[in-house]
Amino acid sequence: MLGLMQDWPLLVHKIIDHAATYHGTREVVTRSVEGPIVRSNYAQIARRSRKVASALEGLGIALGDRVATMAWNTQRHIETWYGITGIGAVYHTLNPRLFPDQIVYIANHAEDRVLFFDITFAKLVEELAPRLKTVKHYICLTDAANLPKANIPGLVAYEDFIADGDESFAWKEFDEHTACGLCYTSGTTGNPKGVLYSHRSNVLHAFVAAQADAMGLRAVDSVMPIVPMFHANAWALAFSAPMVGCKLVLPGPKLDGDSVCEMLTNEGVTMTAAVPTVWLALLQYLEKTGKTLPKMSRVIIGGSAAPRSMIEAFEKQYGITVIHAWGMTEMSPLGTLGTMKPNNIDLPYEQQLDYKCRQGHPPFGVEMKIVGDDDREQPRDGHAFGRLKVRGPAVAKAYFRGEGAGSFDEDGWFDTGDVATLDPDGYMTITDRAKDVIKSGGEWISTIEIENIAVGHPSVAEAAVIGVAHPKWDERPLLIIVLKAGKSATREELLTYLTGKIAKWWMPDDVVFVDEIPHTATGKIQKTALRERFGKYRLPTAAA
Ligand code: AMP
Repeated sequence: MLGLMQDWPLLVHKIIDHAATYHGTREVVTRSVEGPIVRSNYAQIARRSRKVASALEGLGIALGDRVATMAWNTQRHIETWYGITGIGAVYHTLNPRLFPDQIVYIANHAEDRVLFFDITFAKLVEELAPRLKTVKHYICLTDAANLPKANIPGLVAYEDFIADGDESFAWKEFDEHTACGLCYTSGTTGNPKGVLYSHRSNVLHAFVAAQADAMGLRAVDSVMPIVPMFHANAWALAFSAPMVGCKLVLPGPKLDGDSVCEMLTNEGVTMTAAVPTVWLALLQYLEKTGKTLPKMSRVIIGGSAAPRSMIEAFEKQYGITVIHAWGMTEMSPLGTLGTMKPNNIDLPYEQQLDYKCRQGHPPFGVEMKIVGDDDREQPRDGHAFGRLKVRGPAVAKAYFRGEGAGSFDEDGWFDTGDVATLDPDGYMTITDRAKDVIKSGGEWISTIEIENIAVGHPSVAEAAVIGVAHPKWDERPLLIIVLKAGKSATREELLTYLTGKIAKWWMPDDVVFVDEIPHTATGKIQKTALRERFGKYRLPTAAA
């Protein structure tokens, strides 16, 4: 017997309609790419999104067509997403930080038909355009006065493009399983692979993200997604903030400590989300200037592990609660969030911190397990570790065009490529990416754990650990350090600092100091580049 409830397809543009109707005057504030702060609201954005939809339909864009965006977090970028999805086309976020060859590969693989881009990327788009085989329309997200002079075929300014669009355009109706968004994983090996979100998965994921024990969004919140929309959907915030009616603050292209602090302060931001590298810059800026952020209540840190010292600095010095989160492009992206539970909320702070350093517990809608090399499930005892596998309604079941099929098993589990432990309280801890873990004398060493402790040293700005070949132990850890400006530390000081904080046999065999640690297009430490640079490094312990 079937239930007798209504069929109300979960379509993402219903979110902007809801926001326009019930939170219509709630502000959306952007630091525009042109420079000035621009103020709008959900009612205006809903109208302008319909103009985008109608103008795209005028170009012949229809159900299933891919429409690319290469843009910062701005009001116009949000409008393009809702406009694109409102006709059943697919927004495809291009990460401008990728190498040009990778962008060309991705856009051609996706067969993008239109490209919306910010003025920042005009030169890049000019260089790429001759190689983008399927893109027929180039729309720069600005007005005629600011349109860059660039040799891009048929270039048009966004404001001109939507000027004659119909602001009462009727959204299309279609099945909720229809493709909605496309994002390629940066993939450190092989070609990038496309993750194709559906309307249903995006709407369900927005519900999940908003929950009290996830991001805890409320209409009274002012939310600033610093994490770019081209990095795994800005962690759902372009959907979950309007769903709830939060004020939305969009930082545009300026992500340095000074600019971020200015937006957080002036717009009364209560909740924000970004990767640790952004927070490193902000914390250094706050330390230098003595400024504080009295309105901020919580900060989401994810994309890479949040070091203990960073969590402590936010919570103790600035009174801002940290929610450590883990996820992946393939998971829309949220997988776990580190909010407190009844069994740990009353513990002494140092013990609470132990939990906050873990990657968190999964909300409803994410199933997880860890498996050994034989694919057998490992115990959830907080000690056994194995490859982390996940399932859920907002988790990919395949990559676009069937690539990377090996990551999905017959029972519908997706292999994350992360190595993790699960504890009896439901918290998950990432030990490493499977390909970064160090295998020393048959035992595994967690590079993430050593890095997170090393950055707690007062002179250390950033730390990375890689495995280097060793004649006796196969591999041993090498600690790579970037010092804070004006600070110093020796190899011996750092090793002494680690002593007692990690197992003896995890102790790095050597320390090297570098000016900079390379990062991937999504802000993670680029271990492949470090392994290339230091792969042949001769450890002092290798001589014997
Ligand atoms: P991406 O799809 O680019 O977001 O990358 C996903 C990967 O980032 C995950 O598989 C993890 O390896 C890593 N990652 C994300 N969040 C965390 C976190 N909180 N701690 C450690 N690693 C993380």
